Amino acid sequence: MEFSVKSGSPEKQRSACIVVGVYEPRRLSAVAEQLDEISGGYISNLLRRGDLEGKSGQMLLLHQVPNILSERVLLVGCGKERELDERQYRQIISKTINTLNETGSMEAVCFLSELHVKGRDTYWKVRQAVEATQDCLYSFNSLKTRKEEPRRPLRKIVLNVPTRRELPIGERAISHGLGISAGIKECKDVANLPPNICNPAYLADQAKALAEKYEHISTKIVDEAQMQELGMGSYLAVGRGSVNESLMSVIHYNGGDKGAAPIVLVGKGLTFDSGGISLKPGEAMDEMKYDMGGAAGVLGAMHSLAELNLPINVIGVLAGCENMPDANAYRPGDILTTMSGQTVEVLNTDAEGRLVLCDALTYVEQFEPELVIDVATLTGACVIALGAHATGLLSNHNPLAHELLNA
Ligand code: MN
Ligand code: ZN
Repeated sequence: MEFSVKSGSPEKQRSACIVVGVYEPRRLSAVAEQLDEISGGYISNLLRRGDLEGKSGQMLLLHQVPNILSERVLLVGCGKERELDERQYRQIISKTINTLNETGSMEAVCFLSELHVKGRDTYWKVRQAVEATQDCLYSFNSLKTRKEEPRRPLRKIVLNVPTRRELPIGERAISHGLGISAGIKECKDVANLPPNICNPAYLADQAKALAEKYEHISTKIVDEAQMQELGMGSYLAVGRGSVNESLMSVIHYNGGDKGAAPIVLVGKGLTFDSGGISLKPGEAMDEMKYDMGGAAGVLGAMHSLAELNLPINVIGVLAGCENMPDANAYRPGDILTTMSGQTVEVLNTDAEGRLVLCDALTYVEQFEPELVIDVATLTGACVIALGAHATGLLSNHNPLAHELLNA
């Protein structure tokens, strides 16, 4: 998808489609009003007849609007003007993209980036439009026998900003949005891959590929022999039942001052968690391929960092491992010695995440980090406590917790 910014008036655009907002109840946005005037009241007439109320997410596609140079005009319901918030804005963008993608407009000029969103500026609106678009167009179909694609997919979006002065801001927002989206896409791709393809070695390969692609990144892989030497007894125990070797990928991004304390991200990378000897129930066990979602998130974040060229030092750790039942597998009752020297009695081999992560967390102490963020699908109890939408966040440092929540 190609994005660009422009600052122009709607009636002068010659495009497959121009996208403008309509508020509830049947109230034209400033841009829609301009079009209405040029078209001799064509749009306001339709609204009067009740074709569009302006409720958030409503769509009305018009063809051959009088005196308008563009082939189509897409009216997008934005809800009540005063209530348009961040979430709604992103939803409106997503619905718009889906509609454009299905109605044969291969390019569009979008004026939704000029809508007033509470407390947000042009930079935010343009960047979010890019991110929401990429998110909405994402589909994981690389492994399908027959790939289905829209006949005339959307290829190009021009986001309009109110003044020429804001063009550089818009361009910066697009490049940031694309950098962030690239990381999100990589995260989703890796998480969606099946466990017979995405194993710890696959994660390590992705980590190495980042180092090849980006100058500021170097990657080190810690294999089982090295874990043995380091005394990572609990991490090793978890992977013992799998034919796939445990591999911990350590990705260094050096964008900041030499010697500046790094931020460390540690991601749980259980590429499949069967539960081990304490086998999980069969139902929905396929979803346990997602037990590497933390590692996928860290990989994606490292990718975005490099794309954005941020002036900080970050180390990302993908704690790759597979938890399987086997004659060689660790058992309930085993007592393990962790890298920190503490011993752990295993009561249930499905509580493997903490065993892998504790050694990874001890390992990163050598980097003397400014802070450590550990991302994990650690326990099903989190969903039982908070439900399927909220995410659990625990911290021993309140200001950091607030920063993360705001982000
Ligand atoms: Mn488990
Ligand atoms: Zn797990």
